[in-house]
Amino acid sequence: MLVNATNMLVKAREEGYAVGHFNINNLEWTKAVLETAEENRSPVILGVSEGAGKYMGGFLTVAQMVKAMVESMNITVPVALHLDHGSYEGTKACIEAGFSSVMFDGSKYAIEENLAKTKELVELSHSLGISIEAEVGAIGGEEDGVVGDGELADPEECAKITALGIDFLAAGIGNIHGKYPENWKGLNFDVLEKIKDATGSIPLVLHGGTGIPADMVKKAISLGVAKINVNTECQLAFAAATREYILAGKDLESKGYDPRKLLAPGVSAIKATVAEKMQLFGSVGKV
Ligand SMILES: [Zn+2]
Repeated sequence: MLVNATNMLVKAREEGYAVGHFNINNLEWTKAVLETAEENRSPVILGVSEGAGKYMGGFLTVAQMVKAMVESMNITVPVALHLDHGSYEGTKACIEAGFSSVMFDGSKYAIEENLAKTKELVELSHSLGISIEAEVGAIGGEEDGVVGDGELADPEECAKITALGIDFLAAGIGNIHGKYPENWKGLNFDVLEKIKDATGSIPLVLHGGTGIPADMVKKAISLGVAKINVNTECQLAFAAATREYILAGKDLESKGYDPRKLLAPGVSAIKATVAEKMQLFGSVGKV
């Protein structure tokens, strides 16, 4: 069933696990994540970036497709359809299109403007029963062109944006989007503890979940992280499996060119990746 993400994340935070946010790119991707969630009796968040929304034909297409798939596939676990890193306009468009959850990323604005825009979007989304995630800008980070620290949020700014009534908070704790560089220093648990102390019981969100070592993921969950975003890892798994199929010449055998056959190994690879993350995050069986 399609729901907002508030209850599933409050429950996760209370019970000490995290719900995976998996970005989707097309129908196959969506089906793979939904099937895996159902098989593992796990709540799940389908993340859609503005770019992916455009790619799939627009936010309305995505919302209608996800709603129809949840119904047609008899998905009984809680599913949230969530805008990932939304602009001010994009957030409003997704609220209108029927998303059940949104992220307004105002981190590029000065804090006062971020707070003002977030406040407006909290009121709009909550008036329609939609959950909302927000983010404050990173401090520190790039020094002399070296990004080994990743993104770090200011606990005081985190407290200010949390006070607006947002449902969950994306907090930079040394995480990085995409692949992690060689010189990465790991998650910064001092900053995470400070953010946790400053923001009370709000579920925290860890972006850039690809390639963070399992022990760090578990420690982050123990310190209040209840939503972990995974994108790149599914893309890498899909690409590797598809590459293997083509390089083995399978598309040239019999009807191996049929998209239902051609894309099948990639779909299996996404499913395996998602299942592995659900195990690691502890969300299996938590419906
Ligand atoms: Zn992100």
